[in-house]
Amino acid sequence: MTNENTLPGTGTAELSGFAALGITGALLKATIAAGFTEPKPIQMQAIPPQLEGRDIFGIAQTGSGKTAAFALPILSRIIGLGTKRRPKTARALILAPTRELAVQIEETIKILAKGAHVSTALVLGGVSRFSQVKKIGPGVDVLIATPGRLTDLVREGDLILADTKWLVLDEGDRMLDMGFINDVKRIAKATAPDRQTALFSATMPDEIAELAKGLLKNPVRVEVAPQSTAAAEIVQSLVLARTKQKRQVLSKMLGDEAMRSVIVFSRTKHGADRVTKDLARDGFNAAVIHGNKSQNARQKALNDFRDGAVRILVATDIAARGIDVPGISHVVNFDLPDEAESYVHRIGRTGRNGRDGIAITLCDPSENAKLRQVERIIRMKLPVIADHLGSPDPQRDPREKTERHFEPANDREHHGGRRDGRRPGNGDTKRFASQPQGERGPKPQGERTAAAKPNGERKPDGFKRFKGNNKRRFGGKRPANRAA
Ligand code: AMP
Repeated sequence: MTNENTLPGTGTAELSGFAALGITGALLKATIAAGFTEPKPIQMQAIPPQLEGRDIFGIAQTGSGKTAAFALPILSRIIGLGTKRRPKTARALILAPTRELAVQIEETIKILAKGAHVSTALVLGGVSRFSQVKKIGPGVDVLIATPGRLTDLVREGDLILADTKWLVLDEGDRMLDMGFINDVKRIAKATAPDRQTALFSATMPDEIAELAKGLLKNPVRVEVAPQSTAAAEIVQSLVLARTKQKRQVLSKMLGDEAMRSVIVFSRTKHGADRVTKDLARDGFNAAVIHGNKSQNARQKALNDFRDGAVRILVATDIAARGIDVPGISHVVNFDLPDEAESYVHRIGRTGRNGRDGIAITLCDPSENAKLRQVERIIRMKLPVIADHLGSPDPQRDPREKTERHFEPANDREHHGGRRDGRRPGNGDTKRFASQPQGERGPKPQGERTAAAKPNGERKPDGFKRFKGNNKRRFGGKRPANRAA
């Protein structure tokens, strides 16, 4: 690859930028108009092979430019196919784990396809399905969807995937974390057998490698350095504070005007709501975003934060990836995430586009094991900038006693914090052994999310065969934390 972004030996040496990668006509014009003059590394690597019809296995995070990397080749192939589509079909399907990411992808595609007569539609949970069904009725060029609602529409015959020749799975590792993996496999199976597929993932756990093996045909592997290794500009630090001190510590911290745009991460949805309420009591106006909020509320929170109408956004890990809000000055981890990798994604919300960022983590002694895991993956010890452990405890809040001993079973953005969506069994006791009993709390009996079902209960192929035991999953009400 050369600095001029030309492709040596391809006869396109006189071209530069996206033209050299094979993007032409209205698409090239719209891409340049969007301000994309020089392709990013992931685009340079991924666009030419996709234009040749190759499958792609991309290791890249949001922020790398991967949306255009998969969207431009698809758009390029779709333009010129004309408007003749079978009803209820989609030519290309892009699956995203969260509604916010899906909305963001559609926005990018609309910008890139401006003037090219390509139709797009969004299929998401949490909003009315009527307008979605109506929009895909005549057939659509590019459908962007979250797996839950898409599965519902396919099951009910409102969407047919047999004509889908392009499939993109974005943030594969996040899909895995959220328990969508079987949905994804089933969806892929329902698309055209000769489809072209791209799978993007920020990390590459074994399950993603397995998924890639099953779904991709002789893929070209493309990779860009993850944000965490490139983000030397994020200054990370630790504040030692007991759980009951954290509220006070956070409010004091936020009193500093230098914290002009702050995202506060909480491990649970319930915790996020409580932090938001406590901040309001302390005089701070904060927006909150998590999986139990309606799509409209989530989008409004994000827009208010993006526009600067509120300077504090409280979020669960659902917002740690996929959301690209420029100019976040600080990330505060109100608590440590269950998965050490989530720490990297959380702090990656700041220090974007070469700007400086500050990430501060509040840590109670009961979180030390999680802290050690984080320090292992970031390969550094977080410097302690404040230690409140010796300070007298603030007046105990009567609510705290019960809250620390009971965490609702669905109050997690992950399914039991496991990648495979299964509940921790005996094998997991070692992993959580260092946590006090009360911190994780008992799970009410009988609470089983769909993804918590053993694999045997879910047949891996063919939408029509999901009956009987799957009634709840495919016919019943979707559990709140699977609303996407
Ligand atoms: P993504 O990883 O696709 O979410 O992209 C991250 C950000 O980079 C988005 O704000 C894009 O608009 C921007 N972007 C993507 N490709 C380019 C490019 N070639 N030149 C300038 N900005 C870009």
